Amino acid sequence: MTTVIDGKNVAASVIEIVKSATRALESETGVRAGLAVVIVGDDPASHAYVSAKSKMAKECGFLSVQHTLSEETSQEELAALVAELNADPSIHGILVQLPLPKHLRSDPIIQSIQPEKDVDGLHVVNAGKVATGDLEGGLVSCTPAGAMVFVRRNYGEDLSGLNAVVIGRSNLFGKPMSALLLAANATVTTAHSRTKDLAGVCRNADILVAAVGRPEMVKADWVKPGAMVIDVGINRVPAPERGEGKTKLVGDVAFEECAKVASVITPVPGGVGPMTIAMLMANTIIAACRKAGRKPPKF
Ligand code: NAP
Repeated sequence: MTTVIDGKNVAASVIEIVKSATRALESETGVRAGLAVVIVGDDPASHAYVSAKSKMAKECGFLSVQHTLSEETSQEELAALVAELNADPSIHGILVQLPLPKHLRSDPIIQSIQPEKDVDGLHVVNAGKVATGDLEGGLVSCTPAGAMVFVRRNYGEDLSGLNAVVIGRSNLFGKPMSALLLAANATVTTAHSRTKDLAGVCRNADILVAAVGRPEMVKADWVKPGAMVIDVGINRVPAPERGEGKTKLVGDVAFEECAKVASVITPVPGGVGPMTIAMLMANTIIAACRKAGRKPPKF
């Protein structure tokens, strides 16, 4: 029997841990965790993401602050807001929604966030901590952190003896995911567009993670029987079967056929996706606990 992971369910259990840690922090120290979300411009998809994040932050019991800036905002104005939030003791997490409008450079903005408040885990200090295996000191990028929750709940903390293959080497996902698997003692291969015999490499994986952005690229004969398959890809494809002009979301894994070979698999949508926002909340309470000198919860 193949287990199809219900990402919404796992995300809800992460949120429950966040809520109870938030209550405990406030009742024991008087500190309320605070998350500031910054959005620049009018992109409707970004606005939808930001509203969902702000709403979830409120549900968690955080002080939830949203800064909505106009499309015309200058680099200096955005930098000044980040500096203000860095200095604000009521804010423990700062998230600047990406992508920024074209006239703004995102990297200097992200790198100007105090690493201790960088709840997206994109600052080089946090990326460096993940790369060097310092997982207690830094903040881990939300999507790989979420995928690792699935891995830990399936295999436990120690992946000794297991082979993991991550397809994709982006800074946002592939590299931190590989580093997290390695830190948990898996033997890790990071594959990418120049990898020779990708199918053969994947067939060696007890844990196969796909983060490519190519619809249903991973086929059943790429999957080792009994493997755990985590699909990070989000691809919108035409769905004429749903009516003219209709589309649907699919992952990087051909779900139906791979589910027949894997022992555990994540669907798209409803797998890794819901974990990203949950781990943003997890990072915020982790940041707030650390600032207050308290031990943060484990996820
Ligand atoms: P990215 O920066 O575009 O990286 C894609 C990676 O896939 C690159 O390393 C690339 O190799 C590799 N690749 C491309 N074509 C390949 C091929 N034919 N064979 C093997 N490898 C190939 O993308 P990303 O930001 O990591 O995101 C990947 C996917 O995950 C996207 O679909 C994205 O939407 C999704 N995603 C989802 C979430 C979520 O919340 N669920 C979060 C982040 C990303 P090279 O380096 O050699 O070019």
